Amino acid sequence: MNHPAWEHYPSQIKKDIEIPDWSLPDMLNETVYRFGAQDAISFYGVKTTYLRLQQAVAAFGSSLQQHGVVKGDRVAVMLPNCPHYVIAYYGVLAAGGIVTQINPMSVEREIEHLLQDSGATVIVVLDALYARVKSIQARTALRHMIVVSLQPSDQNTSETNFAPDQTFEKFLTEGNARSFTPVQVDPANDVAILQYTGGTTGLPKGAMLTHWNLVANVVQSAEFFKQDLVPGQERCLAVLPLFHVFGMTSCMNLGLYLGLTLIMLPRFHPAEVLETIEREHVTTFPGVPTMYIALNQHIHEAGNKTTSLKMCNCGGAPMPVELLRQFEQKTGAQILEGYGLSETSPVTHCNPSFAKRKPGSIGLPFPSTEFKIVDIETGTREVAVGEPGEMIVRGPQVMKGYWNMPEETTRALRDGWFYTGDIATMDEDGYAYIVDRKKDLIIASGYNIYPREIEEVLYGHPDVLEAVVVGVADDYRGETVHAYIVPKPGSTLTVEELAQYCKMNLAAYKVPKHFELRNELPKSAVGKIVRRMLREEKQA
Ligand code: AMP
Repeated sequence: MNHPAWEHYPSQIKKDIEIPDWSLPDMLNETVYRFGAQDAISFYGVKTTYLRLQQAVAAFGSSLQQHGVVKGDRVAVMLPNCPHYVIAYYGVLAAGGIVTQINPMSVEREIEHLLQDSGATVIVVLDALYARVKSIQARTALRHMIVVSLQPSDQNTSETNFAPDQTFEKFLTEGNARSFTPVQVDPANDVAILQYTGGTTGLPKGAMLTHWNLVANVVQSAEFFKQDLVPGQERCLAVLPLFHVFGMTSCMNLGLYLGLTLIMLPRFHPAEVLETIEREHVTTFPGVPTMYIALNQHIHEAGNKTTSLKMCNCGGAPMPVELLRQFEQKTGAQILEGYGLSETSPVTHCNPSFAKRKPGSIGLPFPSTEFKIVDIETGTREVAVGEPGEMIVRGPQVMKGYWNMPEETTRALRDGWFYTGDIATMDEDGYAYIVDRKKDLIIASGYNIYPREIEEVLYGHPDVLEAVVVGVADDYRGETVHAYIVPKPGSTLTVEELAQYCKMNLAAYKVPKHFELRNELPKSAVGKIVRRMLREEKQA
């Protein structure tokens, strides 16, 4: 592999790594062998050792088999972060099943689509969501629901009662961990996870991630962060939702491979996160930019000690440089920004701690990962250094294809290269920069305007808490730039002041034509600002 990026890898970090021929449950068993007595999970003070986790996984897998689940069957998991998530996820995989992850915030229509598309026959679901799934069950192949309660039964808030055979605990006790034999899988070919991701057509597509893809991304991460994460010693805050690919790999799978303790929180509340970091001596924390923005706001008033934090990962959306600096100054931790997608298990790039970090970039390719930036029109010709083009990637973490969507698969995967749909540039050192999503590009009077550049400027204003810009239709220019701003609490920011500020910092054609001040912006379950919803509002 001949690329300027590789020159930054020191000899102790391998550029090219061998991917073990393991299933994900094999990977967990390796950790149990090394760190069996260590706590794998801590959930509001309730601790589960690796050995106990392994037994629960075997019991769950055995019970699934007793309920007729065989190799290749899809089992949906629709839960917030909790120990049950990990047990169900690994239990399904050990029984040879395919996990279909469902965001617990999904409404009936969305759940129905995912269940129909995946053909899931079993679901593991939170009690409060049971009624929602039950209402659409008849239109799906679901034949069994396993219900998780996180509250003691006398405080159960769900409106619906369920038969006792459906509770998670009962399901576990029906299994026989001792006699359970995990189903043999072919890691390179057998699908482990259907990771649904927003499609251009509006309907989510299921990215088929094999055991090998997922194990690959874990060992790639472990190699890349070799100097940052010490096996068996770190305490990782798992507040990123596990049903999202970033939380799944960076918290759960990587954490369990390295023998870390996952400190789980089912939802993100800045004050609770800061308290937890202090109380649990959290050393590492993967998050999306809006989480760091919210924590920046709370750190001073909360007065919590965050000195245990060493290394934080950021990804999923661009991290404004100013906010990265503020967070690092306030906590003393280092943020390493990376990049990835559902289709790539997810990480393909990250800023290193072993070489120069470049805030604003997504860093270097992961071990055994190639990338190219190609002309957007042809998709083949590599563009010159500094020129924008589509980022394409190749490596062991790239999905097998989309579930039941051969045409989409052929469009996205060509000669082993995955076409990301993101516009990027590369500098002379081989570091990559995400300019924007191809479809977020705004074209006003023939000029290409990249929302991210304007957002970076807006985030530089001391009174701006959150900012996002979208293109809206305009009879004269084709499109114009519309900015949505959430001011910091207590600020007296005005639209006029913002317009003036942008005029001083941006070429005239990039200055938003409209500014709108809001109390909040729409966010996805993982915390990304959803530009699409704002665009649709304007179109309506
Ligand atoms: P998902 O499949 O939901 O994980 O979304 C993947 C998309 O998130 C990518 O195609 C990018 O558009 C975006 N993304 C991920 N990481 C970054 C980053 N560090 N900077 C900019 N965009 C990012």
